[in-house]
Amino acid sequence: MQRSGRTIECAKVTNELLGKEITLVGWVNRRRDHGGLIFIDLRDRSGIMQLVFNPDFNQDAHKQAQAIRSEDVIQVVGTVVKRSVETINKDLKTGEFELQVHKLNILNKSKPLPFMLEDADQVDEELRLKYRYLDMRRPEMQERFALRNKITFAMREFLVKLGFYEMETPILTKNSPEGAREFIVPSRVHQGSFYALPQSPQLYKQLLMASGFEAYFQIARCFRDEDLRADRQPEFTQLDIEMSFINEDDIQRVTEQLIAHIWKIGFNIDLQLPFERMTYDKAFSTYGSDKPDLRFNLPIHDISSLFAQTELKFLRAVLDNNEKIGALAVHNHEFARSELDGMVGRAQELGAKGLLWIRFKDGKPDSPVSKFLPDNFLEQLQKIIPEAGPKTTLFIVAGPYDEAWTTLGRLRLLLGEDLKLINHNAYKFLWVTDFPLFEYDKESKQWNAVHHPFTSPQAGWENMNQKDIKARAYDVVLNGIELGGGSIRIHDHDMQDRVFDLLGLDKETANKKFGFLLEAQTLGFPPHGGIALGLDRLIMLMTKSKSIREVIAFPKTARGYDPLMVCPTEVDDVQLREYGLKLLPGKKK
Ligand code: ASP
Repeated sequence: MQRSGRTIECAKVTNELLGKEITLVGWVNRRRDHGGLIFIDLRDRSGIMQLVFNPDFNQDAHKQAQAIRSEDVIQVVGTVVKRSVETINKDLKTGEFELQVHKLNILNKSKPLPFMLEDADQVDEELRLKYRYLDMRRPEMQERFALRNKITFAMREFLVKLGFYEMETPILTKNSPEGAREFIVPSRVHQGSFYALPQSPQLYKQLLMASGFEAYFQIARCFRDEDLRADRQPEFTQLDIEMSFINEDDIQRVTEQLIAHIWKIGFNIDLQLPFERMTYDKAFSTYGSDKPDLRFNLPIHDISSLFAQTELKFLRAVLDNNEKIGALAVHNHEFARSELDGMVGRAQELGAKGLLWIRFKDGKPDSPVSKFLPDNFLEQLQKIIPEAGPKTTLFIVAGPYDEAWTTLGRLRLLLGEDLKLINHNAYKFLWVTDFPLFEYDKESKQWNAVHHPFTSPQAGWENMNQKDIKARAYDVVLNGIELGGGSIRIHDHDMQDRVFDLLGLDKETANKKFGFLLEAQTLGFPPHGGIALGLDRLIMLMTKSKSIREVIAFPKTARGYDPLMVCPTEVDDVQLREYGLKLLPGKKK
């Protein structure tokens, strides 16, 4: 890119410029004063170029350079020369060259920074966020955002070529159906009324299908007012997609081709397509998760039948309650007794009420409950787990299926790490399909939509109970992390009515909430479906970053606070009055 302030970027100096006079700009990364000579590593977005100031060459520039400090912004004019062989720096792209400076122009002086950029990994994150613009000067941050830019560009290019339109949808909107708590924005003009910030563009993108756009995408900002966890932010970005006249396969195909394209662009890796597919039921029964990490196996086994005659009270009670006994079986690994006992506490931290272990000594069960186990336990076990042998150790959790299997799923991940079963360089993609349409909420005693209430049920649903109905929904998972999910939507008004019925949503409420969509369903609505991929999470995984905050330019802290802008902020009474609002006593800081 031509720019009047400089000839070329620092790291782009090559042989062709040898002997030429060029102008460079950038930040002072480091200055070394070697008596007669002063060296400066000049840094711009591209990387580093070494400058040398020699009084024999230009006295004024050398003198000025004595006052230069780290992070000053400077412009220099000089001649590109080769470094002597012994001073070549192989770690730098421009390590063979240096610039003999004869003119120095200080564009901006910098005070000492609040933290040294090279120590940023050790400083408090809040300080990094307060000075995020400094934090992002670091090469590793620059690299993350360079990749993010490359990937979003690749997404746009790929989708536009396929005929998708990039379209924007409102930020000030009405509540959307994703089920999280919303941020609300008071209206000054319509006092007493509020906008909601979108949890996703879900309803708008469906309406764009009603408009006949057929294939839409958006790199969309989404807002959810949830209690934050390590990998959550109140606002985040997703690649949002919707298409008409399609089925699940079409969406999955476009998505996996897009992901393959991204992997090619980002890593020059050819992913194998199609991705593996697994039903939700299979994923949960085998791995105790709806997003199994398939970089290693270690499946969960249902060993309830082995205890049909047991006299062990707690297992007896479990079976009498129609609950289940599940186990992970680790073969050919010897655990020390202390490790086994330690596992009990670790399993409890993962949510287990208890953990039972069984190993074998001379082919006989060795466990805190050995005396309740038959001598031929191993033989019986082999009928369920043929690979089991005298060097097998079982980790057993019993209880309600969902709870026990969820715990075993977590334990599986822990053992996977402990036993080094995970290949951290592998990319294991997976489609999880056939999710349940509804889930029962024990507290409110209500059936809720697992995804959102516009997700289409699978064929045959009309005569089924809520618990058996499957959704035309799918998630794409990478290495045990959900990258995204979507569904085929309901486009038929009658079907929508009946699904609302099953959700216990009466007509009046449904109309008040989503009347516009219900009406659209009667005015020529094409069959359609879509997906959304979490962009921050994707870039986090691709850059092997610790959290999504590392790949968002200006993230909030884990408590939803922005130390840079210092927000959220108070609003004065005058402003509140304009909105017709008044704070409750004691709510003002
Ligand atoms: N709106 C959904 C979400 O944000 C994605 C979809 O169904 O397309 O998770």
